[in-house]
Amino acid sequence: MLKSDRIGLVVIVASLMAIGAIVYMVFQYQKTDRLADIRSQGVSLVRALSGVPYEQLIPGGEQQGVVQVLKHSDINNGFAYVSVVDVRGQSVNEVTADGIIVPPGKIPNEPSSWLGESHLELTGDQREVIEFHAPLLENGALQGFVRLGYFQPTVGMDMSQLPFLATVALPVFLLTPLFYLLLRMEVRPVREANREINRFMEGESLRRVEVSATGELGEFMQRFNQFIEHANSRIQGLEHDQQRLITSAKLLTYKKNRIETVLETLPEAVLILDESGAITFANQKLGVLFNVSPEVIITQPLNEWCDHPDVIQLLTKYRTSYKGQNFTDTIRFSVTDIADRAIATKTYPLFSPNSPASAVGTLVVFRDETKDALARQARTDFVANLSHELKSPLNVLGLYSESLLSESGKSEEFRIEAANVISDEVERLGALITGLLNMTQIENGSLTPNRSLVKLNDLAKAAFDEACQSANDKNYTFEFDAPKEMNPLFADKDLIRIAITNLLSNAVKYNSDGGEVRLTIEETEDAVQIRVADTGMGISEDDASRIFEKFYRSPDDHVQSINGHGLGLALTKQIIELHHGSLSLDHDREQGAEFIINLWKETTVAKQAI
Ligand code: ADP
Repeated sequence: MLKSDRIGLVVIVASLMAIGAIVYMVFQYQKTDRLADIRSQGVSLVRALSGVPYEQLIPGGEQQGVVQVLKHSDINNGFAYVSVVDVRGQSVNEVTADGIIVPPGKIPNEPSSWLGESHLELTGDQREVIEFHAPLLENGALQGFVRLGYFQPTVGMDMSQLPFLATVALPVFLLTPLFYLLLRMEVRPVREANREINRFMEGESLRRVEVSATGELGEFMQRFNQFIEHANSRIQGLEHDQQRLITSAKLLTYKKNRIETVLETLPEAVLILDESGAITFANQKLGVLFNVSPEVIITQPLNEWCDHPDVIQLLTKYRTSYKGQNFTDTIRFSVTDIADRAIATKTYPLFSPNSPASAVGTLVVFRDETKDALARQARTDFVANLSHELKSPLNVLGLYSESLLSESGKSEEFRIEAANVISDEVERLGALITGLLNMTQIENGSLTPNRSLVKLNDLAKAAFDEACQSANDKNYTFEFDAPKEMNPLFADKDLIRIAITNLLSNAVKYNSDGGEVRLTIEETEDAVQIRVADTGMGISEDDASRIFEKFYRSPDDHVQSINGHGLGLALTKQIIELHHGSLSLDHDREQGAEFIINLWKETTVAKQAI
């Protein structure tokens, strides 16, 4: 719309300029025409006056009135002045148009220039005059001159010329809209092309512009339409390519996500190096291992996140001399902030399925071998402990059997003592072997609990009475606090009895003189809680973290002086966990030790249902 307005404006301005040019040319023509008129009129008049004797033109002369007539003559249009001067140039008679002063004129010296024309400027007036001068002669002698001045015609307009101007302007004004329409029709193809380009810029598809045009414009439109067809086919091609790229990008993302999910799910921490040795992937577990985010591992230099020289050396090796080579490498290191932690790092070359000959990268696996190492250690400790526990009673048995065979063993007193010691040691060995057997069976899953409905208060009371009996030589106080009536629990009564007995026997063993042993049972809607407490030596923080390990006994001298194999609590814990319950130590106790067994009724009920 704006553009077509501009075209209209251009047409109007052009029309006005055309009118201006026409008017100017007409005025110029008029000026030239008028000048010619003045010249012919001036020349003939000045010649006519030159023929009149000087005497007759000066005041008092017969013809002096001729001069007056000139001013009012119709044919003398543009008259400015007529002046009769003597040979010195002094005016002797003159007639002027209103308000005009005759300008001083030069008296021509040479007879050849007596008759002539000059252009003068009026004094006190801006206008110019054309002056015609001729000599006044008498009997061949120069008497003076006659000077006849006409106003120089100017280019200008007066009201009289208005009809003429209207006649010139009217057709031009009438033609202007016609020109405008013609021009608009002429530029229509360009407008249409422009509209198409605008549509395209707004996201529409490109279309051919179907307008007829001839000449250069027609050629341009043809080229424009060819360009559109070409651009359309290019766009289609690009769209097709883009679609393919999007699909393959989606596929790649899907594959990448799948691989990353697999790598994240692996139990090990992993790194992937590309063929130049640069890190391209690190899973979360690796981040946890080095205490940084995987992002940092990928983007930051090696020494920013890893301070282990062996790892740095290994990964640097891939960046320098081992680019994309097929080999595996293993190093072991321990993470310094976690004691006894052992990490084994192994590298595997990654081969492309298309060219299995050369590696495209390297998979670096960091395997935490701490558990394996601990398990190895535990096995070694277990065998050592067991050997020790078996050896001491065997030593005692060996010693007494030797003595019995010797002379000193003949006395009745010694025989009785030896029989008691041997019986005790055999009992201890039996208890040790039973405990070990139970534990091994529980650990390898071969012990199936023989469950039945058990009245826990009765079972606990029996174990409690037995403990009281075994300690009747000690001045301990025994307290038993359990509900009279309890819902029966579905459990293996023998195993539960062993668990409670172990806790009670510890409470007796590690108690101090005048101490107290208390067994409390509380029943809630969901669970049964058994607490075994004593007021003895208690358990230090260090020991508390290890007392449930097999064969662990406190290094405390008092504990070491008391008989034991360090298996009771380990077995108790396993029995309770076999019943899906929990065994824990109450850490808040100020004096003595208190162990808490929690057995969940729901579990028991659920098991019952099975
Ligand atoms: P044992 O009593 O044969 O040594 P346990 O497995 O029953 O083995 O106990 C492991 C260790 O736990 C004991 O050696 C002792 O150091 C500590 N312990 C267990 N019960 C108590 C307790 N009631 N008071 C103090 N220490 C205890």
